[in-house]
Amino acid sequence: MQCLKKFFNPKNSPIPDTQPNREQMIIPVSNSDASFIDSVIPKFDLSGKKEIYPLATRVDLDPDRGGIMKPTHVVHHYTVSYKTEPTVQYFKSQGVDIHLIIGHKGEVIQMSEFNRQCAHAGTSKWQGLQNFNSFSIGIEHINLGPLRESKNGYVDYYGRKYEKSEIRIRKGLGYEVWEPLTDAQEQRMLEISLYLFKAYGIPASNHVGHYEISGFRGKADPYGSYSWGDMIEVRKKIGQYILEAKRRGFV
Ligand SMILES: [Zn+2]
Repeated sequence: MQCLKKFFNPKNSPIPDTQPNREQMIIPVSNSDASFIDSVIPKFDLSGKKEIYPLATRVDLDPDRGGIMKPTHVVHHYTVSYKTEPTVQYFKSQGVDIHLIIGHKGEVIQMSEFNRQCAHAGTSKWQGLQNFNSFSIGIEHINLGPLRESKNGYVDYYGRKYEKSEIRIRKGLGYEVWEPLTDAQEQRMLEISLYLFKAYGIPASNHVGHYEISGFRGKADPYGSYSWGDMIEVRKKIGQYILEAKRRGFV
């Protein structure tokens, strides 16, 4: 996605008016610490329509979707917003399109089929490829992204304050402090990556961060969001997860 920040007038944003409290992780995920080693790898039924994620919490397709594509890559984003439903509604009202949104509890909202183009990557270039919108699936995490230091401590884009236990420090891309993703979000992303490998053959090496493909347009997502490290580490983690699934005979 173009990251909500770009669309928002912070003084008149529809999303920050909702309660900014971090939602509790009450939906069980296959592993609470998001470690691939102990996780229960989901069995996917590919007998249905493979363009729809079989474990989606809800499918809420945008009727005005883009052209057909063959997905070969995945672009990871964060939304710069607090909660899932207001974000989904905001995307719909603004005509922002994306394939999946992953919420704090691991809930997955699918807004576009995997074989339809979405305008989430913008002008993009990476390893000799360009125009990622025409061949990539966009995954958004509900997350605030970088935090900044103020006289009251660390605050997000909208000014909500964060305790030290709620932040991650990772220097890079002009930032130092981030809101971490939840364990449920990380685990769900691994499961989705496995599904996309199984359904479309998308390897771990074809997962990219928006910040990697967007050149010098100031995009930082999701550099500091994942617990494993930057996208190089995220690719390693996805690769390990797929390997483990293969070892167990799931793919
Ligand atoms: Zn983005």
